[in-house]
Amino acid sequence: MLKLETLISEQDIQRRIEELGAQISKDYDGKEIIMLCVLKGGVMFMTDLAKRVTVPMKMEFMAVSSYGDEYKSSGIVKILKDLDEPIDGKHVLIVEDIIDSGRTLSYLKNILEGRNPSSVKICTLLDKPDQRVVDVEVDYVGFTIPDSFVIGYGLDYHQFYRNLPYIAVNKGE
Ligand code: 5GP
Ligand code: MG
Ligand code: MG
Repeated sequence: MLKLETLISEQDIQRRIEELGAQISKDYDGKEIIMLCVLKGGVMFMTDLAKRVTVPMKMEFMAVSSYGDEYKSSGIVKILKDLDEPIDGKHVLIVEDIIDSGRTLSYLKNILEGRNPSSVKICTLLDKPDQRVVDVEVDYVGFTIPDSFVIGYGLDYHQFYRNLPYIAVNKGE
């Protein structure tokens, strides 16, 4: 059994998302963006963040599998579901749940940059810089957290717990 302890409360998440949404709206003023959610982990963050963005935006979704186990990604990323539209000349904002080693996002960013977009930026709710293996430029970070396995608000433990409205750490087992 997991023994959950709150790391970031629902209220703190929502407050930070308001700030990020305001910042993003300001930075992209006069532009149109494609907000690209990386499934499944980024879905809660994507839907809440999108409500706080005031520039014209489209929602897109990509599913990638990063050949690894529950806790570590390998860096070999397979695209399971691609974007519905081409992105050449577009501003793409990747919306992720968490950056750990950085392997998944650096791989994904490279693929997207090869499609001639105007820009590709990254917005992640959580950043665990202690575990970084690949250098990846992150443009917007919700919270920087220490190296521990977190769940909730989109993040899973064997596919469960994504529906928690807050971020938790396991203090059991
Ligand atoms: P990276 O390629 O940056 O090492 O891994 C990123 C992916 O690994 C995340 O999108 C997420 O799916 C998974 N991941 C990394 N750290 C955690 C964590 O603390 N909790 C959960 N649930 N998933 C994590
Ligand atoms: Mg993810
Ligand atoms: Mg997972």
